[in-house]
Amino acid sequence: MRGLMMDRPLLISGLIEYAGEYHGDTELVSRTVEGPIHRYTYAEANRRSKQLANAMTRLGIGMSDRVATLAWNTYRHFELYFGISGIGAVMHTLNPRLFPDQLRYMVNHAEDRIVCVDLTFVPLAEKMAALWPTVKHYIVLTDREHMPQTSLPNALCYEELLAAEKPEFTWPSFDENTASSLCYTSGTTGNPKGSLYSHRSTVLHSMAACTANAIGFSVEDCILPIVPMFHVNAWGVPYSAAFAGAKLVFPGPKLDGASVCELMEAEGVTFGLGVPTVWLGCLQYLEQTGKRLGTVKRVLCGGSAVPLAMIATFQERYGIEFLQGWGMTEMSPLGTVSRPKRKHAALAPSARHAIRAKQGLPIFGVECKVVGFDGKIAPHDGVTRGELHVRGPWVIDSYYKDEAATKAAFDADGWFKTGDVVVIDPDGYVQIVDRSKDVIKSGGEWISSIDVENAVMAHPDVAEAAVIGLPHPKWDERPLLIVVAKQGRSPTSGAMIDFLKDKLAKWQLPDDVVFVPEIPHGGTGKILKTRLREMFKEHRLPTA
Ligand code: AMP
Repeated sequence: MRGLMMDRPLLISGLIEYAGEYHGDTELVSRTVEGPIHRYTYAEANRRSKQLANAMTRLGIGMSDRVATLAWNTYRHFELYFGISGIGAVMHTLNPRLFPDQLRYMVNHAEDRIVCVDLTFVPLAEKMAALWPTVKHYIVLTDREHMPQTSLPNALCYEELLAAEKPEFTWPSFDENTASSLCYTSGTTGNPKGSLYSHRSTVLHSMAACTANAIGFSVEDCILPIVPMFHVNAWGVPYSAAFAGAKLVFPGPKLDGASVCELMEAEGVTFGLGVPTVWLGCLQYLEQTGKRLGTVKRVLCGGSAVPLAMIATFQERYGIEFLQGWGMTEMSPLGTVSRPKRKHAALAPSARHAIRAKQGLPIFGVECKVVGFDGKIAPHDGVTRGELHVRGPWVIDSYYKDEAATKAAFDADGWFKTGDVVVIDPDGYVQIVDRSKDVIKSGGEWISSIDVENAVMAHPDVAEAAVIGLPHPKWDERPLLIVVAKQGRSPTSGAMIDFLKDKLAKWQLPDDVVFVPEIPHGGTGKILKTRLREMFKEHRLPTA
């Protein structure tokens, strides 16, 4: 017997329509690419998204056509999220930090028809245009006054396009499984792989993100997504903020600690979201200036492992609740969020911080299993390691037009293989030990590079640290610790090792320490371990 309930499609247009109608006077604030702060409301954002929908339709964009963006987090990018997907077209966010060859591949693979470009990225698009034959129009995301001289073919001005259109538009209704947006991940080898989200997956992900155990946005929040809108749709924040009717603040191109902290203070941000390097920048700024973040109640950090020291600093020095999230582009991205349970309330602060340092509890909708190296399902005992496999309504079930990548990424039962090596403890918290390719195999034992990095990050002279395995004649691989010292500090190798001695087992201690001015990061802020392995391939460990 079928239930007698309405079968209404879950569509992205419903989110902006809801926010426009019921949170119409709630503000969206942007630090623009042109410079000044821009403010308007959800009601205006909805109206302009409809003008954009009319403009896209006039340019010949229809169901399933791909429209790319090369843009920072601003209100115009927000409008593209709704105006493109809302008409059934597919918004393809390009990450401008990727290599030109990857950008060439992605636009051609996606067969993008239009590229919408922020002023900052016009020179990049000009360089790429000859390699992007499918692109018929470029829309520069600015007004007539700031429109640059450009060699881009068929360059249009965004504000002029919108001004020519009426705000009347009825969002079309279609199957909720229709593709809505496309985001590529760039592995270190091979071509980028596309995750093609649907309206259904996106709306369900937003609803799940807004539950109290997950991110938990509400009408009382003022949200600052520092995570770029070109990386997994800024973790879905533009959608979930509209779902919650929360105030949104977009940081534009300025992502340094001072700019981010000043914006949080000026706009009364209650909830910030970003990768660890962004929060490190903020903490350094606060430390140098002695300032505090008066309005911020919570931050969410994820994308790579979060140092325990950072959690303790936010919680204790600044009184800000620190949440860690784990996820992947292939998962929209949210998989787990780390919060202590009710039963942990009586624990000492340090024990509660240790719980927050785990990647967290799976949110409802994301099913997890750990497949041990013997192929058996690992128990939730907090020690048995294995690869994390997941499934759920916002997890991909294949890569976009890429059979080889799809074949490699799923197990025989159709679960997605994350490539993350984890343990799950008896309370259900997932803890990442390492990426399977970064774990250091030393004499039959495993050393988690994340554990060592985490331990050394607590040293007051350390700004950033990374650990890689180097070949070793006796032990197979041994760890090399690479450290960026804080400005004005000059720690020694010996001091680093001494500091780690009571935090790690003897065999986990790095065999050598090198100091570098900076550690290379990839297009999404993650430490580029492949680059580090390349840089240090000639390095001889003193123990080898
Ligand atoms: P991406 O698809 O680029 O977002 O990368 C996803 C990968 O980032 C995951 O498979 C993890 O290896 C890593 N990652 C994401 N969040 C965390 C986290 N909280 N702690 C450790 N690693 C993380």
